[in-house]
Amino acid sequence: MARLVLKFGGTSVADVDRIRNVARHVKREVDAGHHVAVVVSAMAGKTNELVGWCREASPIHDAREYDTVVASGEQVTAGLLAITLQSMGVNARSWMGWQIPVRTDNSHGAARIEDIDGSDIIRRFEDDSQVAVIAGFQGLAPDNRIATLGRGGSDTSAVAIAAAIKADRCDIYTDVDGVYTTDPRIEPRARRMDRISFEEMLEMASLGAKVLQVRSVELAMVHKVRTFVRSSFEDPDAPGMGDFDNPPGTLICDEDEIVEQQVVTGIAYAKDEAQISLRRVEDRPGIAAAIFGPLADAGVNVDMIVQSVSEDGTRTDMTFTVPASDLDKATRIIEAAKADMRFDIIQSEGGLTKVSVIGIGMRSHTGVAATAFKALANRGINIRAITTSEIKISILIDGEFSELAVRTLHSVYGLDKVRP
Ligand code: ADP
Ligand code: ASP
Ligand code: MG
Repeated sequence: MARLVLKFGGTSVADVDRIRNVARHVKREVDAGHHVAVVVSAMAGKTNELVGWCREASPIHDAREYDTVVASGEQVTAGLLAITLQSMGVNARSWMGWQIPVRTDNSHGAARIEDIDGSDIIRRFEDDSQVAVIAGFQGLAPDNRIATLGRGGSDTSAVAIAAAIKADRCDIYTDVDGVYTTDPRIEPRARRMDRISFEEMLEMASLGAKVLQVRSVELAMVHKVRTFVRSSFEDPDAPGMGDFDNPPGTLICDEDEIVEQQVVTGIAYAKDEAQISLRRVEDRPGIAAAIFGPLADAGVNVDMIVQSVSEDGTRTDMTFTVPASDLDKATRIIEAAKADMRFDIIQSEGGLTKVSVIGIGMRSHTGVAATAFKALANRGINIRAITTSEIKISILIDGEFSELAVRTLHSVYGLDKVRP
């Protein structure tokens, strides 16, 4: 007998029929004798609708009340799944974040989980084999109010609960059957990976692959949670679905559990980036701090930064990217602090995309970046900015070339080829 956490995303619980299908996955594991905690997202599209209502009520709104509204989607699906399981003869009870409680910090709208008390859930496993159906995405902040974990946060709820109850496995059920070499919606020739290392999954997620929330991968890595990404759309009773050691899907694991390491593992992309250029900035010590300090204080996430070599030693150009949603805010802050920042003009542009090439093998192979630059040039795609780290290269391009760039890079590294 084992302890399992099963997480189901929005498309997997999109209506009552799909919730019934989810219940069959849960029942299969219960019938095999396992103790099961289930984490659910809101029905597909629900959270977007709730966020939209908050904005409609007032474009600028209290983050605590935003949390009160957007956390409600998960309450509905948790209750519906508990009802469905009960109707199938499975002992089940729903839990909201505050009931467990899942304790978070005070950053409403993007809270971090600090502590989870799993004792009641475990006691009910032992006493009654009761299934815990937990609303993902939500917790209880120190101000005693509901907090949400940022978009995609149910993945993080699931991994954190798995760590708290010392689960043997955490299965993230979604609308694809694993982690692919790139988003299969953009490149149908993308291949599913049997395994991917924590480090690479962390990069893929933070560079735009939304299949897992970044924080969930961090938690899985730190707490060594055995995490699988798998499909909820397969027949719950098909052969192999209940395989304990090797369920169908992608295992996120340590690097040394991967036998054949590729140089490049995957391609990720993030749309809706914006670029800001400050022209003829005074070239003196402290200028970068004067520009980026106020942006950081306002919570604007600055990503790629390029400073050009100054022609005469007195003036330079500073270009950087921010999420398009922060462009107005960033521009206002910069205009307001123009006297300290000492630039001539500010230029900005939205609608850009960052494409990234990821692979641990890059640590020991040269020429990976040059291959990307050449391939994009052959397609006539202009590169606006580049950043690199040990295991990734990110390239900023015009948004209209997003799909072409992803497919081009995916093919130039042979990721669409079936490996022997
Ligand atoms: P859920 O609602 O189950 O949480 P998400 O929509 O958050 O599902 O994440 C699943 C989606 O992630 C897939 O439908 C797919 O389009 C997208 N995706 C992006 N990159 C990848 C990738 N490398 N592998 C698999 N899916 C990816
Ligand atoms: N429902 C939330 C969202 O759409 C959380 C999640 O699905 O993971 O962001
Ligand atoms: Mg998700």
